[in-house]
Amino acid sequence: MQLYNTLSAKEREALIEEAGLERLTISFYQYARIGNPSIFRNHLFIHWNELDVLGRIYVAHEGINAQLSVPAVNFNAFKAHLDSITFLENVRLNIAIEQDNKSFLKLKVKVREKIVADGLNDDSFDVTNKGIHVDAVKFNELIEDSDTILVDMRNHYESEIGHFKNAITPDVDTFRDSLDIIEKDLADHKEDKKLVMYCTGGIRCEKASAYYKHKGFKNVYQLEGGIIEYTRQVKNLKLENKFLGKNFVFDHRRGERITDDIIANCHQCGSPCDNHVNCANEACHLLFIQCDSCAEAMNNCCSVECKEIHELPFEEQKKLRKGKVVSNKIFKKGRSEVLKYKK
Ligand SMILES: [Zn+2]
Ligand SMILES: [Zn+2]
Repeated sequence: MQLYNTLSAKEREALIEEAGLERLTISFYQYARIGNPSIFRNHLFIHWNELDVLGRIYVAHEGINAQLSVPAVNFNAFKAHLDSITFLENVRLNIAIEQDNKSFLKLKVKVREKIVADGLNDDSFDVTNKGIHVDAVKFNELIEDSDTILVDMRNHYESEIGHFKNAITPDVDTFRDSLDIIEKDLADHKEDKKLVMYCTGGIRCEKASAYYKHKGFKNVYQLEGGIIEYTRQVKNLKLENKFLGKNFVFDHRRGERITDDIIANCHQCGSPCDNHVNCANEACHLLFIQCDSCAEAMNNCCSVECKEIHELPFEEQKKLRKGKVVSNKIFKKGRSEVLKYKK
């Protein structure tokens, strides 16, 4: 029985191109008690692999958090399989606005301690006592209210390229950091203000809203389905779109354009730009914002140092990396002294 990927990302990319089939980029999550995450993980892998589903899925005792790409022709079969699992029946699927056939190139289903690395001790508060879920209509109404404090629950590199008008966007690297900062900043308003929060797809607010209620906030609201679902509703119902710029996403696309506003700047020259890239030096891979002309001048690198390394023959780069600890190799999140225009 095949329980793991047998193709490399490159082989997969070629296959996707050859097949020429339309794929849908989808995300969903569900908090539920899962007795044996490993068995559940294998079950998902076997069925989804058959349906040519690709993506990154986390499974834990507390539930599932999935971001995937499904061939459009297999969508109904995929949906039927979800509906066959009790706690996933009719789960809300966030379907990406901008489709990209190569948003994911492998199927990775991982068993984790938690489905979001939130740094919270769940036993210390009631995670089921959540904030009130609101749809786009109610959300638009709430954020016009002068008694509302609107908070972006995402990290700095996400809100940098797009956020709701008048939202507080904490300058944080992790979800855990933002919880403390926001609590401190709003300590005097636990009872008199409405705390309204949002994130990408809603999952972070599920815990955050319960945490704030536990901390004494009386009026806590959360945008159901996050920015992704909000955008869909705004389009369908022709509502005013109060979001500005791009929604950062965690796949190859890196961001979906929601409105034409460009609210960020190239980190190297300061010109208006909201395109995230990863530094081309394999040993760096820094996530940052780079305009086309800087990309050309810097050969897609974040610094002169990285450019020099990147331009060495591959074997020499490998030699340089040997024995060095590269802590930021996977996804260093948008901070470095070399970025002159990073705010
Ligand atoms: Zn630039
Ligand atoms: Zn670099």
